[in-house]
Amino acid sequence: MDVLHNHIAGLDVPAASGATMDVVNPATNSVIATIPDSGEGDVHSAVGAASDALQGSWGHATVAERADLCDAIADCIEARLDELAELESLDTGKPIRTARSIDIPRAVANFRFFAGAVRHQQTGFHEMADALNYTLRRPLGVVGLITPWNLPLYLLSWKAAPALATGNAVVAKPSELTPMTAAALAQIVTEVGGPPGVFNVVHGAGAAAGAALVSHPTVRGISFTGGTQTGRIVGAAAAQSFKKVSLELGGKNATLVFDDADFDLALAGAVRAGFTNTGQVCLCGSRILVEASLHDRFVDALVARVEGMRLGDPQREDTELGALVSRAHREKVERYIALGVEEGGQIRTGGDRPKLPDDLAQGAFVRPAVITGLAPTCRTATEEIFGPVVTVHPFEDEAHAVQIANGTRYGLSASVWTTDLARAHRVSAALDVGMVWVNTWLKRDLRVPFGGTKESGVGREGGAYSLAFFTQDKNVCVQL
Ligand code: NAD
Repeated sequence: MDVLHNHIAGLDVPAASGATMDVVNPATNSVIATIPDSGEGDVHSAVGAASDALQGSWGHATVAERADLCDAIADCIEARLDELAELESLDTGKPIRTARSIDIPRAVANFRFFAGAVRHQQTGFHEMADALNYTLRRPLGVVGLITPWNLPLYLLSWKAAPALATGNAVVAKPSELTPMTAAALAQIVTEVGGPPGVFNVVHGAGAAAGAALVSHPTVRGISFTGGTQTGRIVGAAAAQSFKKVSLELGGKNATLVFDDADFDLALAGAVRAGFTNTGQVCLCGSRILVEASLHDRFVDALVARVEGMRLGDPQREDTELGALVSRAHREKVERYIALGVEEGGQIRTGGDRPKLPDDLAQGAFVRPAVITGLAPTCRTATEEIFGPVVTVHPFEDEAHAVQIANGTRYGLSASVWTTDLARAHRVSAALDVGMVWVNTWLKRDLRVPFGGTKESGVGREGGAYSLAFFTQDKNVCVQL
């Protein structure tokens, strides 16, 4: 069993109180590690270490030095890809092949991308008849990064890379459910020569360590990814000290399938959007809206495809669906499946617990579910479940499809499946979401704006948006 520590000023340290929390492998329900159960004092030490780093050499590091550090981190993650993928899979219950092909490569890409982005960053210049204005771009200072359990290293690196590339010092608070790769990243930053205090990790519960970070007066920015309810608390707390805040929150995303779509492409896309990472991606298309003329054929094909997915041991190379992140989360998912039945839905497949070998019998598994027959306005169809559950709804025409798709308090993403180019543009424009994919899903260019509308969040990440978030501009006006 691993004993993980906080990483403060380049050193591994326990919580000042000595308290710890267990980390459980959700596929086997066995304890695989402990983390410090940190409190306000630990956060204060980490923020102090970050401030010291900014007073020291890191405060004067050149763009080239910061970019080189990010590249070195990327190289080290890449060299340890297999080891990190295994940690991620053990910690989250996700299939090893997902961790190896998506999570860890994306962490490498994030550091490389922001190394390049900051090397090519430009600032403003505004000329007047008798004066010149130029814009200095400065890091915020100490920034707090708070991340969820579904894509632990992927999302932490998505924030840490631009924060470091732009010269901030970081205090990260990873999810207490999945701390392993954040701990490994802290080691990597120190190993490749990151100055002490530049990247600190404080483990522990959100309501204690997370809340202390958000309310710490020295922290100038909070980049948060997590649930909408937590985001509301974080946003309100951060406003007390006027911190800059980025909130990437929940989603209940629609997959819109028109009858002119390429059937096989749309079916494969809907399955991928519905069940990637066992349905635990904020962008998952958990509401599948199908043109009425196609609905029954599509549902039959969907059910057959979902029943063919291999669920089981996340460590096996051919597993497609792993465990949910915890037994508590499985209970939440199961409550929604039961609610779906109460609300009049028919479970066309799945939703029950699979029979698995003894070592996995206590794991947090649930068979992927397809539910039909629900009103698109009911709770099951509009609230975020965050598990392997999709609801399918027929629509009459384009306007009806858009109305259903927009009928939730969320507005993160959608995918549109059609061969009619004009329709693709019309529907994309009408959807009240931050991101639309047409005839694809989760195709990511790291330069594009990433974020949601309504209760899916505030602000955008990605490329220049992330660089802007982690910096502040100062104008200098020079009289000629
Ligand atoms: P969560 O909100 O429970 O926790 C997220 C993080 O916040 C954790 O590190 C947690 O410890 C911390 N936290 C909890 N309470 C806190 C508090 N009072 N103050 C400060 N920090 C606190 O979310 P989760 O269950 O870990 O993740 C799942 C959610 O994340 C889903 O809703 C999903 O849609 C969302 N998500 C969104 C995106 C996106 O980019 N929009 C990406 C991934 C996940």
